[in-house]
Amino acid sequence: MYLARILYPVKVLGPGNRVGIWFCGCPRRCEGCSNPELLEFQKRYETSLETVMSLIKKIAQNHVVDGFTITGGDPFFQPEDLSHLLKEIKQISDDIIVYTGYMKDELPTTLLKNIAVLIDAPYIKARNNNCLLRGSDNQTIYILSEKYRDAYKKYLATAENQIQNFATRDGYISVGIHRPDFKF
Ligand code: SF4
Repeated sequence: MYLARILYPVKVLGPGNRVGIWFCGCPRRCEGCSNPELLEFQKRYETSLETVMSLIKKIAQNHVVDGFTITGGDPFFQPEDLSHLLKEIKQISDDIIVYTGYMKDELPTTLLKNIAVLIDAPYIKARNNNCLLRGSDNQTIYILSEKYRDAYKKYLATAENQIQNFATRDGYISVGIHRPDFKF
């Protein structure tokens, strides 16, 4: 699988202290994509589910994991790896947000059943209107899990967009929904 980064605690892409997971690779080329460095399927980001889960389990052993947010790249371009990962992380928390450039109706229900919240559709720069959790307002937030429906309704009604910066081996990484004119 091609997976570029795992960050914790991500507090700006969903409620609580989340493990953020960035897949690598997306053949779409949305103008203004917030992670252009992750669009190619890069060899240096090739890894295994075992390696990824070992890291995530270490985080979960030592910290509270309220949920996961999976983005990229587009995770649905690696559907089998995504499926395996969802089944594994669900054992830690089933509050799982997944971003995709596909439309929801294009996605297999076998994958959707392990996702609490799906945010779909390609990013459209001209429609970046500072929406909570959404890069552009053509995207839809689907609360797929009944268990989390009320919690997410409350979160979406009360939370505000924020940016969070992480110092990593690859330099500083800014996480969150950025406006088109954002400069780090
Ligand atoms: S679908 Fe998402 S990851 Fe792919 S190019 Fe568009 S914004 Fe970037």
